[in-house]
Amino acid sequence: MTTTPLAPPVAGTGTALLRRLREPAPPRPERCAFCGLDLPSEHRHLADTEERALVCACVACALLLQQPGAGAGRYRGVPRRYLSDPRHALADADWEALQIPVSLVFLLHNAVLDRWVALYPSPAGPAESELDPAAWQSVLDRTGLARMLEPDVEALLLRRTEDGTTSCHLVPIDACYELVGRMRRHWQGFDGGAEARAELDAFFERLAALATPLREGSDEL
Ligand SMILES: [Zn+2]
Ligand SMILES: [Zn+2]
Repeated sequence: MTTTPLAPPVAGTGTALLRRLREPAPPRPERCAFCGLDLPSEHRHLADTEERALVCACVACALLLQQPGAGAGRYRGVPRRYLSDPRHALADADWEALQIPVSLVFLLHNAVLDRWVALYPSPAGPAESELDPAAWQSVLDRTGLARMLEPDVEALLLRRTEDGTTSCHLVPIDACYELVGRMRRHWQGFDGGAEARAELDAFFERLAALATPLREGSDEL
């Protein structure tokens, strides 16, 4: 499988904002969606803004499709940067106001709808938040990462830990869907259980090694 829906049908409103992910676990090796070439496990992904899906691409096709005029701007390369905001802080009351039933949420900006969408993992794949946009705006205003995020291809990732702190990262959207897919495969019980938590811990260990911290007092790195 080379495509994964990443965003809602354009006509969607309210509860229809996001389609569910298809079952993850793509066959290995994955193939370039354009020329059929077998791909290494590390390869580029493009966001197909018409089909609202992620597609796998070889280097040559990824470069070609991102040329001005080629694909008429339909395909956008998913960036590979990972950023963190070490000074991000969220009080208990602010986190509770978001009414996220798990300790993790992704915030995506949909360019077509020009709105932010909140996604969090659940046994059935990503679930969508039905929140008051004002509640989210106060969260977005707290981090320079929200202003740096590229619509449709990057996500803000917030994680609440047991000591009551909230970490804030900017991650490529394919990494976000991979994490939700992994958690879904290992999910047990009400809160995901030990295996889903282990997937989460492993992901955040990699993130800690990869992420570049935002410099103090600016939106710069
Ligand atoms: Zn190709
Ligand atoms: Zn792929």
